[in-house]
Amino acid sequence: MGRTILHVDMDAFYAAIEQRDRIQLRGKPVIVGADPKNGRGRGIVSTCSYEARRFGVHSAQPISKAWRLCPQGIYVRPDMAKYARVSERIMSLLMEFSDLVEQVSIDEAFLDVTGSRELYGSGEEIARKIKSRIYGDQRLTASVGVAGNKFVAKVASDLEKPDGLVIVPPGKEKEFLSPLPMTRLWGVGAKTATYFTKMGIERIGQLADTDRAKLIRTLGKGGEDLWRLSQGIDDRTVSPEEGYKSIGHETTFEKDTADPDVLHDTLLELTEKVAQRLRSHQVRARTIAVKFREADFTTYTRRTTLQVPADTAERIFPVAQRLMRPLVRKGKLVRLIGIYGSNLVEDQTGQLPLFGPERSKDRDLAAAMDDITGRFGDSAITRASLVPPASKRGKT
Ligand SMILES: [Mg+2]
Repeated sequence: MGRTILHVDMDAFYAAIEQRDRIQLRGKPVIVGADPKNGRGRGIVSTCSYEARRFGVHSAQPISKAWRLCPQGIYVRPDMAKYARVSERIMSLLMEFSDLVEQVSIDEAFLDVTGSRELYGSGEEIARKIKSRIYGDQRLTASVGVAGNKFVAKVASDLEKPDGLVIVPPGKEKEFLSPLPMTRLWGVGAKTATYFTKMGIERIGQLADTDRAKLIRTLGKGGEDLWRLSQGIDDRTVSPEEGYKSIGHETTFEKDTADPDVLHDTLLELTEKVAQRLRSHQVRARTIAVKFREADFTTYTRRTTLQVPADTAERIFPVAQRLMRPLVRKGKLVRLIGIYGSNLVEDQTGQLPLFGPERSKDRDLAAAMDDITGRFGDSAITRASLVPPASKRGKT
């Protein structure tokens, strides 16, 4: 039996939280986003309630347009700190069901529950338990897709929103995708869809029936990727350390090593790079994770959450060391180590209402180091950035 992957996606997340917390908003068109300024506002809609969607309002729409479509709507400024707290709680509930939870945005995550089936039942049973756990704890609904891979699970979670549950049994992936429009494919936006329409391809099933070699000739590697998705094939793993808003570096040793000094120095070097990238993105990490792979590919991820988010090696390195130390076993060869910062918060230096100002000597020193590295470049940074592209983030 193959993998069981869940995609859990909260319904109208910000708007649902506001409706939960303010009884007078329930059943009303609630639009969370920029100030509409009587139709002259220039920002966008972050999320809106299902009641507002009936007026044609949707996320990422200009707030001025939302105002025209739905002047009777209740316009609410986002409270990101509150949404982040709810998000954290939900992610920790998901971790009760599997160690393999990859958060892909503030309100959605993939879970690989293959190893949890024995304990918690089938994918469907786990999905039901998760939905009721979230509702019981937070009075919020989630939609869940259950399938053998990430792509199909993600498509499934979106089909019966809100409060949806869609299960795609193993072997039925292609059949499930076939009638759906091309825009459901990852990476196909309106433009690409128009291109396929000209080729006579409007549904995923039509792409699946297209000659693979011809697609590769016309579209290259991207064509092959789309063709594989159209067949319901997606081998990507659920990787907790590569999820939403994480910044990390890892390195594979040229030669497997058990030398504690090499491990120490490499961890320090990686930590400095991560800290520097956090600062250049003007964010701080609340969660620090260490990835540790032994020569036989046994892989451990250890993480911890800090009281005060950090963006300096001086603060992150001792934490990373504490996480790595129990994993280092005498004589055991190590193939790879990595460090990740996630649960990122915006760094508004000097005005951190949640945590108080924390301008300290180590930050000043770090800023000076950044200046030097900035001027001379850092050719040593070869590992990929792990901030996912916008296309991976999906809808609310
Ligand atoms: Mg959502």
